[in-house]
Amino acid sequence: MNPNNNTIKFALSIEDTNVNFYNFKKSTMRGITSKVFEANVLANYSKCPQCGFEKLVHNGHFVSLVTYISANASIPVYLELHKERLLCRNCHSTVMAQTDLVDKFCNIAKQTKQKLVMYLQDDRTQECIARDINVSPNTVTRVLDESDDIFRRNYDFLPVHLSMDEFRGICQRRCENIVFCRLKNAVFYR
Ligand SMILES: [Zn+2]
Repeated sequence: MNPNNNTIKFALSIEDTNVNFYNFKKSTMRGITSKVFEANVLANYSKCPQCGFEKLVHNGHFVSLVTYISANASIPVYLELHKERLLCRNCHSTVMAQTDLVDKFCNIAKQTKQKLVMYLQDDRTQECIARDINVSPNTVTRVLDESDDIFRRNYDFLPVHLSMDEFRGICQRRCENIVFCRLKNAVFYR
């Protein structure tokens, strides 16, 4: 076993046995010096998921760069995952290795998304959160929308705290201002 693998996994809190780290380096990503950890992701398929044929052969790797959480926001961390691909000799379809670190068709680690959701509880702007965890503001908005299900909603009652700053009626097509200004004190103590 490569000693680097155990050390990096311990430092990054990664326990997926399919992921084997073999190198780390500093590289410039989007103009910022970043830490990049390179790993192989093994494909654990004993038979073809499409046809059930048992003869699968190695068919190269698919490389994806995954954004990972970082202790220091000024030095982003990336995982360069080399995902193994297998080719079925019978139906000629290919299957790719999967890992618990990241969702399918996504380049942002699950840990990063979890940290993002934790940050959303604070009184901070989405751009500030995006800068801290090295993702785009659009990603913050998307993750917020995706995590909508974790909040239990009861449509029989209004929430204890309700805030609105303008109102548009059905008959009258003009906005009425309820709050005289948009300063925080005015919004909270109106
Ligand atoms: Zn097949």
